[in-house]
Amino acid sequence: MELEIIAIGGYDEIGANMTAVRVDNTTIIIDMGLHVDKIVSFGERENVNNIPIQRLYEIEAVPDDRFLADIRDTVKAIVISHAHLDHVGAVHILAPKYNAPIYATPYTMEVMKSLAEDAGVVIPNTIKKISPNSKIKISRDVEVEFISITHSIPQAALINIKTPKGYIVYACDYKFDNFPLLGKRPDYNKLKQLGEEGVLALIVETTRAEEESKSQSEIIAKYMLYDVLSSVETSGIIVTTFASHIARLKSLIEIAYELDRKPVFIGRSMGKYIKAAENIGLVNFENVAEIYSNARDYPRVLGRIDREREKYLLIVTGHQGEPGSVLDRMAKDQLPWDFKDTTVIFANNVIPYPINEANRKLLEERIKRKGGHIIKDVHVSGHAKVEDHRMLLRMLKPEYIFPTHGSMVKRAAYIEMAEDFNYQLGEDIFLLQNGQRKILDL
Ligand SMILES: [Zn+2]
Repeated sequence: MELEIIAIGGYDEIGANMTAVRVDNTTIIIDMGLHVDKIVSFGERENVNNIPIQRLYEIEAVPDDRFLADIRDTVKAIVISHAHLDHVGAVHILAPKYNAPIYATPYTMEVMKSLAEDAGVVIPNTIKKISPNSKIKISRDVEVEFISITHSIPQAALINIKTPKGYIVYACDYKFDNFPLLGKRPDYNKLKQLGEEGVLALIVETTRAEEESKSQSEIIAKYMLYDVLSSVETSGIIVTTFASHIARLKSLIEIAYELDRKPVFIGRSMGKYIKAAENIGLVNFENVAEIYSNARDYPRVLGRIDREREKYLLIVTGHQGEPGSVLDRMAKDQLPWDFKDTTVIFANNVIPYPINEANRKLLEERIKRKGGHIIKDVHVSGHAKVEDHRMLLRMLKPEYIFPTHGSMVKRAAYIEMAEDFNYQLGEDIFLLQNGQRKILDL
């Protein structure tokens, strides 16, 4: 059997993930992500829809798959691991180049469809919804399995490719959360079973691989938020967090009721991700919260809430300081809000990219200038740290490892950890760059 691991995007960077796995004449593409920060940096804003594909390749906003021409006909499946933009954001742009069906869990599918809708395109590929923890036969010898895993978005999956010589496991992104607030805890027995049956290769994220601790459960974030929110003394409270983090939004609704406030979600992406979760019956926020995602409504809604602010908990977009987000527009006086007697809570981290850091700093300065009070970093990460990575290695015992989804520093940290398990760089653990391919004759 000839196995080829092809690094297309997301190697030596965080963003625009795409990997291809070729088993003889069957190729499976995993993820087609967008590099959102690159689009923002080039002044293109988040609207990728009007940018020609040639330009998207040039600014490295989408994975450069042009070197795959020789194996394009062997692509039999496009598999999407979860609904974060750096994994699903380029599907409607790149998938039409391949004559292959797209497989994803229902939540990922909903987000994918709404991205295509926003772009005004119809994805021509056959689209197949896969329930979490089920498998599909791709060819005579190859099967793909979606294994539910905890991360920071609903229905994330580890992708397991079954080949005649063992499993290839794709673990981007994940953390081991034993107290998840949406979905089940990880199925450790299943992972151990894969390890016993034989894992040939592991393709693994390294976003937080240099942090020597265990990734914290989302339940910790809930208590952090509850703790912080119940000690706020201002009449106005605004929380901003990742719109796709449905478990976090659910916690915020529950905390709002504890504090005798009505939760109100404002922002285009808030509406979009909540709707995706409601469409598949995962949550029902509409009955318990006010949700506004049409910019025309914002001035009226905010004007009304500002007058009775002690009755509401506002949850808005803008955690990275994104220009045009609700919080950014409030701070720029483009939307009505008096920041005096207001606390703004950032329930997120700043994604380390120069443009985000600059945007966030400007936003914070504006809020402070207007008399607002800020509380930052009320957040736990959705990514595996050293202890999670060690656990995964102990369970899967892969023969080969391909670290991805991180800078050289992060991937080097992963390798250092893997050396404890006797892996050796160049022998059984490989550092690929975007555009590189590794063939293993087995
Ligand atoms: Zn992710």
